[in-house]
Amino acid sequence: MLRVEGMIANHDRVFEGAVEIDPASGLIVSVGSKTGKSDLDIGDALIFPGFGDIHIHAREDAGGTQMYKEDFVTTSDAALHGGVTHVADMPNNPIAPVDDARYAEKEKLTAKSVVHVTLYAGIGPETEPLQRHVPYKAFMGPSVGDLFFASQEQLEGVIARYRGRNVSFHCEDPVILQESKGAATHEARRPARAEITATEFALYLIEKYELQGKLCHYSTEGGLQKIAAAKNRGVRVTAEVTPHHLFFDETMLTEENRLALQMNPPLRGSADRLALIEALRGGLLDYVATDHAPHTLEEKAHGVSGVPLLDTYGAFATWLIREHRFSAGDVARVCAYNPGRFVKEFLPSSFGEGYGVVAPGYVGSLTILDLDSPWTVRSEEMRTKCAWSPFEGFTFPGRVRATVVHGKVYPAS
Ligand SMILES: [Zn+2]
Repeated sequence: MLRVEGMIANHDRVFEGAVEIDPASGLIVSVGSKTGKSDLDIGDALIFPGFGDIHIHAREDAGGTQMYKEDFVTTSDAALHGGVTHVADMPNNPIAPVDDARYAEKEKLTAKSVVHVTLYAGIGPETEPLQRHVPYKAFMGPSVGDLFFASQEQLEGVIARYRGRNVSFHCEDPVILQESKGAATHEARRPARAEITATEFALYLIEKYELQGKLCHYSTEGGLQKIAAAKNRGVRVTAEVTPHHLFFDETMLTEENRLALQMNPPLRGSADRLALIEALRGGLLDYVATDHAPHTLEEKAHGVSGVPLLDTYGAFATWLIREHRFSAGDVARVCAYNPGRFVKEFLPSSFGEGYGVVAPGYVGSLTILDLDSPWTVRSEEMRTKCAWSPFEGFTFPGRVRATVVHGKVYPAS
């Protein structure tokens, strides 16, 4: 039995206590009072339910052609380093999981990951729903790979086949992206109105086809009211936001960092950034999800979009608490509870109540954060195979002390 004592931070309550995990089942068996006997000396660090990053790109598929930059082993290492105990991997691989056979084939590859991997299945112009119950991802505009749509009409024709399913949308309108191709900067080539227009259409599809919808990596202030209005009228929609859209904005771009900080959707203005922080703290945005995109620095120098963020997930959460007045409960909600609810229906039955709460019957995975131990990000410490971080040189106010997965402890260093 693993016993850990300290301050426990759930989404609805922060309290002093002790959690006991049975390593055989991997589940929490009890949460009780402190007795002074702990298998881990965590000092004043906080015990959170295991964090979950429900939007990553691990790059491994049966073809293995992108494993020079990441695979499920290095993804898992980077996740543990960042205090992340489960992830959900996107389907835009060269051999994309778009049917039951390919999905099962990719799922086998995830067995070597310590952290549990939920796989999204891809939706493309020619795809049909799987027999299995899985989450889906639809790319509205051009991204990496072939799973995208040229128009709203084409997308609706396909989504009609997915009525009632769990579908996540990358919201950038392909027509507006096409019209903006000649603009001077990456940011201007992918304007906010591309996301806002696509948001309106995604919300229309989610409502009309009764989807369990999710908007990925939300980045614009202008779309937030549309999400709020949809939620208020009962549309089943949630939304992610990335660490980079909460931390960086266009005013921070320089000639030196411009290529490293290129991603889709791009960085927006500082008003957008501050509005996203408020929306996350206030509950309109539901998840901190990284969009972890482990491209090599050589690829970045050639204009490939995306940044690696798994290693820094937990430290970033301490920044939300120390710099942006998030309570420990707020962090538990957006980094653990809501991600746990998202993946619950796709987990094996042996995972009990699933992730996201320190309570009996839930998965025995914990994220232990020291809020008062500053940590400076150094590329050489990153465990992602691409071996760099957009936070290089930045000092976070706190760090991950340990990550516990199904009752097994993974110390931070
Ligand atoms: Zn992504």
